[in-house]
Amino acid sequence: MKVYILGGGPTGLAITHGLSENCDIKFVLFESEFLIGGMSKTISWGKDSRHDFGPHKIFTLDKGLMKRVKEILSEKEWLIHPKQSSIYIQKHFLPYPPSPFSLFFLYGPLVFVSMVKDYFYARVKSLFKTKSPNTFEEDLTFRFGKGLYETLFKPIALKLWGNPSKLDVKLSKSRVQNPTLFEIISKLLKMRKTSHFEALNFYYPKGGLQRVWEAIYEKTKRQGEYLLGQEVTSLSIKDNRVVTILYKDRITNKENEIIVNSDDFVFSTLPLPLLPKLLGDAVPDATKEKINKIVQLNDLILVFFKINKPSLLNECWVFVPDLEIVFHRLSEQESFDPEMTLENSIVCCEIMSNEMRPMSQYSDEWLIETAKKGLEKMGYKDFSIIEQKLIRLPASYPVFQPGFEPILKEILDELDRFSNFRTIGRQGSFNYIGTMDAMDIGYGAIEWLINEKASGEVWKKERERTNYYPVLD
Ligand SMILES: Cc1cc2nc3c(=O)[nH]c(=O)nc-3n(C[C@H](O)[C@H](O)[C@H](O)COP(=O)(O)OP(=O)(O)OC[C@H]3O[C@@H](n4cnc5c(N)ncnc54)[C@H](O)[C@@H]3O)c2cc1C
Repeated sequence: MKVYILGGGPTGLAITHGLSENCDIKFVLFESEFLIGGMSKTISWGKDSRHDFGPHKIFTLDKGLMKRVKEILSEKEWLIHPKQSSIYIQKHFLPYPPSPFSLFFLYGPLVFVSMVKDYFYARVKSLFKTKSPNTFEEDLTFRFGKGLYETLFKPIALKLWGNPSKLDVKLSKSRVQNPTLFEIISKLLKMRKTSHFEALNFYYPKGGLQRVWEAIYEKTKRQGEYLLGQEVTSLSIKDNRVVTILYKDRITNKENEIIVNSDDFVFSTLPLPLLPKLLGDAVPDATKEKINKIVQLNDLILVFFKINKPSLLNECWVFVPDLEIVFHRLSEQESFDPEMTLENSIVCCEIMSNEMRPMSQYSDEWLIETAKKGLEKMGYKDFSIIEQKLIRLPASYPVFQPGFEPILKEILDELDRFSNFRTIGRQGSFNYIGTMDAMDIGYGAIEWLINEKASGEVWKKERERTNYYPVLD
């Protein structure tokens, strides 16, 4: 038996790692880029600077998973950081999540009392709830009241995903956790520092996330092949099985074919919308239509500035709901590992393009200049920009439309009918997840393959287990 892995991001790499921990089954991993790590990779900028694709913290509530990932590197190769994040509202930086005190001082007693009244009204109303909320807007108004929703959640949703009344409730449920009244009060009385879902500290590998991927590569390279710069272009199906993988060398443009034997298995982490093209007529038209209908992905644009100061921000990252500023989040590599940027610092401005704010249509020059103006508006000064660069990540951020879940389930059930093929991971199963969740999915998939492959029911349970991961900001 051989395992073929399409895509060398965290999901694909957890598969190779999981294989090496459990058995000696050989693998072949195809990656179209020349570097493994997917959206969680670290890249060099000149001789002495390195940075990740946006801020990436390593944190999970799953202690077993945390231990497994930490053991990829030695103890001394991990940095541990207190989480310092803030939200920039009305020209002020508030701690994130904002405390009732900070909201009181920012908005004054009248607005604050109105927010508190709305909040308690919503809480009381929820005791008599008759129907479950369907959208982001309904859910958060229901949980936090109109005042907090309009002030905190709506502007960030508008910047990130688009119209919040047209976003599925799964988005708000996974991204905005509900503190209990007890947690709110005990935080106010300083009896506890955090809610159970909040990351107080997070881990970061010295030198960048790439260190984890390199270590996985070193541990596993004797068990399989990593084919970098090789883009998968077609998968052929016979008797309900993948029988060949066609791939193209991105330098020579030469096409190659691998025969998939009867006991081999294929895991794809490639974007779900690519599968109709790769699998051709093997995907029924009805499934293609469903993919077109529900899989909506926003483009993300990353603007990086290398500046002439060792540090610019006080925090690891700042959320910026202010609609006058082009980016929605600001972060600095130095606060993850100062040795990655030495004398300079690298600041990352994340700009989402969505239906309501179609930023992708603008030129690189315009986006860079507008991001610079955003930094000025936020009051950052006494620095100069040494270098700048922009990276576009087209179709990279899932947008959940109301009612998408049952249709997604039908799509995945239909694709799961291919007996030796499973599509998984963030892009592969249209799942809005982070790095650790992606690794959890990779480990889970390989454990299923080794121990339970014969059972379709166990796979269904595995899909359910990996369907929902709370986001811990
Ligand atoms: C700006 C930004 C900030 C983020 N911040 C965080 C954070 O703070 N915390 C966190 O946990 N997560 C964060 N994430 C999310 C995290 O990066 C992803 O969840 C994770 O990378 C998903 O892993 P994956 O392997 O499923 O998919 P990907 O990382 O997308 O990997 C898929 C791989 O498939 C390859 N591929 C695609 N098409 C082909 C083809 N035809 N042939 C061969 N290979 C192909 C791609 O090149 C890619 O390497 C962030 C992401 C971004 C972009």
